[in-house]
Amino acid sequence: MRYIDTHTHLDCPDFDADRDKVISNAKSFGVERILIMGITASNWDRLWQLVLSDQALFGAFGLHPIFLDAHRDEHIDRLQQRLATLVDHPQCCAVGEIGLDYFLPELNRERQQTLLEAQLQLASDFNLPVLLHVRRAHAPMIATLKRFGLHRTGIVHAFSGSREEAREYIKLGFKLGLGGAATWPQAKRLRRTLAELPRSSLVLETDSPDMAPSFQAYQRNSPEFLPEICRQLAELRGETTETLAQACLNNSCELFGWSSTEL
Ligand SMILES: [Zn+2]
Repeated sequence: MRYIDTHTHLDCPDFDADRDKVISNAKSFGVERILIMGITASNWDRLWQLVLSDQALFGAFGLHPIFLDAHRDEHIDRLQQRLATLVDHPQCCAVGEIGLDYFLPELNRERQQTLLEAQLQLASDFNLPVLLHVRRAHAPMIATLKRFGLHRTGIVHAFSGSREEAREYIKLGFKLGLGGAATWPQAKRLRRTLAELPRSSLVLETDSPDMAPSFQAYQRNSPEFLPEICRQLAELRGETTETLAQACLNNSCELFGWSSTEL
């Protein structure tokens, strides 16, 4: 079986000691492509160097809402310049990780909104998909996306919203990223929602090194765990691992404009 991990932070120091081994293990388990997120202007160089070291790696560039304090207005200009240089590079795949986080009260919501909209505009200008972080902020995110009407949509990463919110994103053409969160028996609502989501709107992710699955509780998460995550999610949905894995692969390829036969 073949997989794409649509959301990782593989450039994190957590992987410094054994990154090559993690990547080669993941590949040997069928994880053929791994996306790495930009989070602040200061990680873009590091992540791009890493991406260039291996054709299975793909980079996204963005300003993550959680690191609001690190972002400056001129970083939007730098993002614009970087995307202008790399937009045609086959390993530059999206604008992300960007979004809205209303879970952490210290993050100024107006400033988050301003940054989000500036980056959605760049995604639209460069015709790139977006990789979204949304916590307790689905209503304002859905309203913003409706206003923008992006031609190339994207992924709502680590989706944990309601069935109604899922429906809204799907109507807008977005995919929902699923990973380790739903492997936890305590995640009752997510597990119920997950079982009802249309297969055509799902993609797989780990969010490594974060969001460890229940079978690796409180450990470093890794793209190596994606096949087992997929197996457990498929079981929850009452379908075979093959069916879910293939659908998620196809959905990812469709979103990023990749041919699923030539990975
Ligand atoms: Zn992330």
